[in-house]
Amino acid sequence: MSQTPSPAVPAASTQEQEPGIIIIGGGLTAATAAETLRKEGWDGPVTIVADEAEIPYQRPPLSKGFLAGKEGEDALLPLPATWYPENNVTLMTGIAATALNPQSHTVTLANGTTLPYTKVLLATGAAPRRIPFPGVDLEGVYTFRAKADSVALKELFTGGGKNVALIGSGWIGMEIAATATELGNKVVLMGLEEVPLSAAIGAQLGTVFTDRHKEAGVRFELPASAAEILGTDGHVSSVLTTTGVTIPADVVIVAVGVVPNIALAQDAGLTINNGIEVDAALRTSAPDVFAAGDVANALHPVTGTHARSEHWANAIASGKVAAKSMLGKDAALDDIPYFYTDQFDLGMEYSGFGALTKDAELVIRGDLAKREFIAFWVLDGRVVAGMNVNIWDVQDAIKDLISSRRTVDTAALADPQTPFERL
Ligand SMILES: Cc1cc2nc3c(=O)[nH]c(=O)nc-3n(C[C@H](O)[C@H](O)[C@H](O)COP(=O)(O)OP(=O)(O)OC[C@H]3O[C@@H](n4cnc5c(N)ncnc54)[C@H](O)[C@@H]3O)c2cc1C
Repeated sequence: MSQTPSPAVPAASTQEQEPGIIIIGGGLTAATAAETLRKEGWDGPVTIVADEAEIPYQRPPLSKGFLAGKEGEDALLPLPATWYPENNVTLMTGIAATALNPQSHTVTLANGTTLPYTKVLLATGAAPRRIPFPGVDLEGVYTFRAKADSVALKELFTGGGKNVALIGSGWIGMEIAATATELGNKVVLMGLEEVPLSAAIGAQLGTVFTDRHKEAGVRFELPASAAEILGTDGHVSSVLTTTGVTIPADVVIVAVGVVPNIALAQDAGLTINNGIEVDAALRTSAPDVFAAGDVANALHPVTGTHARSEHWANAIASGKVAAKSMLGKDAALDDIPYFYTDQFDLGMEYSGFGALTKDAELVIRGDLAKREFIAFWVLDGRVVAGMNVNIWDVQDAIKDLISSRRTVDTAALADPQTPFERL
């Protein structure tokens, strides 16, 4: 992927161009929406405005195969660079949209240019949450979201021997810990949970991942955060934890979640509620303005509640729905939420409604100790979520159990000898 210069960025002016569809954001949601617009037969103008100096790319490999040096730049691209000119999609990279005006149906760019639109999609994603730890500005302290972060850390991790302090015990922190360890570095991970990942999947299942990390040599300081990041000559040298432990560090990575990029929407007066609030067709509170991907808090037709998903599959599903919706077609974001992770030799897929798992019964089918199992969350006799670890080709069956809403016998569910069709 090249640091694409932006030949399409117009000079500052109000453009006398035909209004069309503008997509703001250069991630997977934006790319999927643009592709869907063309697949659905829209042949009018499509413009993507992306503030990163990259053509649209996807992020999952950044903490896994790309960081490990096992995957190249191609693995990052949902669409090849040639797709955009071939499909007459104007791609402006390295320039931010700075204002949205729903009344005049215009978008203003950082260089002062104003572009007219018929419909606009806000696919502005999310940014790493920043915590003002003392010392956070020292050299060697990173957040992790962009390709540039992964490129920089790959260079540091490759060859091994670095002391890596990770703050954050969620998916991204755990993935980076695994990759850095595999590359021969010494990782200490801090987090506010007693057990990493327990906010997402509970302590019992979080322990499966944590134990695998411990086996590989990852050290955990839990529950603990950073009281201070200390440095020598402007470069990080250690982290003092809130529990008084000093962790030597050549590199510190702060991975404590993300916040949705709502500034444009907020300034434009759109309804904000944990992201940009949208209905199931991904319409915002302003006419002809849509939102999708990590930034959108969408009404789910099944749960009847709003949920903001920060996952790859949602970027794809919602990018498609937003495109159809912008074309006036009937579309609703009614997919069962899905995500995956890879850490060491643990591969996991999860489908379901996380919000419904809090009071659900956990049913295990398979062997936790061997790390080959399916975990089901059962609420009022029905499966509301399922997660397979090192067992494959079961996602369709899990999704079928969830979407059918049929009542299940938990003993049969736990029994690997009972085929899914008989559940
Ligand atoms: C390291 C990492 C690993 C991940 N791994 C997994 C995984 O294994 N499984 C999984 O399901 N999910 C994973 N995810 C989550 C997944 O990548 C996100 O859900 C997905 O990137 C969301 O896509 P998006 O296009 O909505 O937002 P983003 O990818 O955040 O893209 C939005 C883009 O819009 C740009 N933008 C923002 N404001 C403006 C503006 N005003 N003007 C122009 N451009 C703007 C942003 O800079 C950004 O480039 C991972 C995320 C990260 C960071």
